Amino acid sequence: MKKVGILLVLLALVLAGSVPALAAGKLRVATDATFPPFEFVDEKGREVVGFDIDIIKEIGRRLGMTVEIINTAWDGLLPGLKTGKFDVVIAGMTITDERAQAVDFSDPYFATGQVILVRPDTTDIKEPADLKGKVVAVQIGTTGHFAAQKIQGLKRIDTYDTYPAAFLALKMRKADAVIADELVAKEEQRANPGQVRVVGRPFTVEYYGIAVNKGRTDLLRQINRALALMKADGTYDAIYEKWFGAE
Ligand code: GLN
Repeated sequence: MKKVGILLVLLALVLAGSVPALAAGKLRVATDATFPPFEFVDEKGREVVGFDIDIIKEIGRRLGMTVEIINTAWDGLLPGLKTGKFDVVIAGMTITDERAQAVDFSDPYFATGQVILVRPDTTDIKEPADLKGKVVAVQIGTTGHFAAQKIQGLKRIDTYDTYPAAFLALKMRKADAVIADELVAKEEQRANPGQVRVVGRPFTVEYYGIAVNKGRTDLLRQINRALALMKADGTYDAIYEKWFGAE
């Protein structure tokens, strides 16, 4: 009798939406920790940290799940999601139509766009059209890469496995410019004073989403619900402030 009663109460709570319908467990989260300040390896603790990590840990907490962070190369993120190696991907990943055919995305949790990054001594690059005849470095398979492919008359697009590698090519004068997500480019500028400079305003409009495999509608619904509550109760703003407050 008692057990049935408890079950009924639990059922009522689940139906009322106040208890996560997922069994408490582990949320396997994949990211590519080469994208500061969204995800990167903290030099002291050798731990993966960043804005995205705080967001997903808070979501995990609200879902009553332990978050396990799996640091994986960019090109392994969506394939690993599809084969069930991970439950979610959070990686400063822009919601695109093409990706949305393969996986499902949460509601947007961050708005951004692509910017151009140059060396401070470069004066002839102010907007995408000025990249004509120039070598542009990008991380392969990113929206920065796709944006570069749309610009007419580039001398060359050099692709790298990570953004830090593309930034290094710029600093070593192997490339004339990098096209990258605004706040990652700004973080690179902040961390390398006098070596790189962001020019102009973002020239694309993009939104980051958390990816889950198709068919995980329950998980997706709960992520969206947690995100909405975090936005409503100030938790999202506090995390934003922690990483971008100095902006
Ligand atoms: N936002 C970009 C994309 O989705 C870059 C993400 C990244 O390099 N981590 O393609």
